[in-house]
Amino acid sequence: MLKLISDRYIKPLLFLTFAAKFNNMSKQTFTMIKPDATGKGHTGAILDQIVKAGFSIKAMKWIKLTEEQAGLFYDIHRARPFFQELVDFMISGPIVAAVLEKDNAVADFRTLIGATNPAQADEGTIRKIFAASIGENAIHGSDSDENAIIEADFFFSKLERF
Ligand code: ATP
Ligand code: MG
Repeated sequence: MLKLISDRYIKPLLFLTFAAKFNNMSKQTFTMIKPDATGKGHTGAILDQIVKAGFSIKAMKWIKLTEEQAGLFYDIHRARPFFQELVDFMISGPIVAAVLEKDNAVADFRTLIGATNPAQADEGTIRKIFAASIGENAIHGSDSDENAIIEADFFFSKLERF
């Protein structure tokens, strides 16, 4: 009897579990408002632009990273010549970390923030409006669904997401 139940329900259940996980993945991204933007008092205006673009906030915190945390977050850039400059900048003031939700979240958020170098960012993007240089570029956005999950888990426990 138990075997019958498991044969009948376990596969659809497993499928639904994976489908839900995959579906959720493409709906969420992770962001940080960087120290240049928080320091210039742009936090409210940037959050307003994010919410008006259709993203909802699933988790958020205002914190100052340690050197170790900033280095770990940008570990992929450790060998780059700008790594220490990037870490020093990221610990120079508080950041706002957040998990955001919207269909096609990762790609749509990268469009909203614009190119890494604000000089090349499209008009109306967050980096075009608020960033001063490629190093101090106001905001971070995850570059893939996989990294969005890793980055959100780096900052938030399950209890901190709603
Ligand atoms: P982020 O990951 O912060 O969203 P990004 O994905 O647009 O930015 P990356 O290539 O991942 O760009 O670079 C990470 C960060 O490192 C950039 O946002 C920027 O702050 C810094 N950075 C990148 N290239 C340079 C550079 N040539 N000089 C100084 N800083 C740089
Ligand atoms: Mg990046």
